[in-house]
Amino acid sequence: MRFINTNFIKSASARDGFIFDELPQIAIVGRSNVGKSSLINMLTNNKKMAKTSATPGRTRLVNYFKVNNEFYLVDLPGYGYNRASKSTSDSWDMVLNEYFTDNSQLKVVLLLLDSRMSATELDKKMLDYLADLEIPAIIILTKTDKITRSQLNDRVNKIASELRFNKIRIIPTSANKKIGVESIGDILENYINKK
Ligand code: GDP
Repeated sequence: MRFINTNFIKSASARDGFIFDELPQIAIVGRSNVGKSSLINMLTNNKKMAKTSATPGRTRLVNYFKVNNEFYLVDLPGYGYNRASKSTSDSWDMVLNEYFTDNSQLKVVLLLLDSRMSATELDKKMLDYLADLEIPAIIILTKTDKITRSQLNDRVNKIASELRFNKIRIIPTSANKKIGVESIGDILENYINKK
């Protein structure tokens, strides 16, 4: 699967604004500043698709992008450190619960982790939560241009063992170097066509 044509459809702040139609959905989630906007811009080949300097109001929203008229890429609010209010939070926004619950069109979640850092408790909580709901997850490692190849290998091994995650479901990426687009496209292909 290649991102040929992506259109921003809408933002929603609560369930009554969410999209539930026949198209499958792929969601992207991660703590604030992990590189989510940059990843969306890389995948869609459009520097302005997701606003990298997200404004406070917009960061709490669920943003829907329609890709190739085939599926929705759903940009979920970042969790953890909230730059907007300069406060820390030990839970994620209610809007995430609302989005994940009873969403049969959601096929897989891309959970972003900064390749330089260990997974936080919130990241682990998110993965456990998705597993409980039987929602498949893929780990996307961001900013791999900032570490060496051997450091990257170490991180992949560590994350796989710490989070009990299969290595083939951990995808290294770099928005700066445009690494990972094909790998993500290949993996998403299977989920988009899953009934
Ligand atoms: P978001 O808050 O998760 O949407 O994160 P952003 O996409 O806004 O990125 C947060 C910061 O990390 C910005 O300063 C980006 O320029 C930087 N960043 C994101 N992706 C990469 C990457 O692949 N490589 C490097 N070196 N920096 C990145």
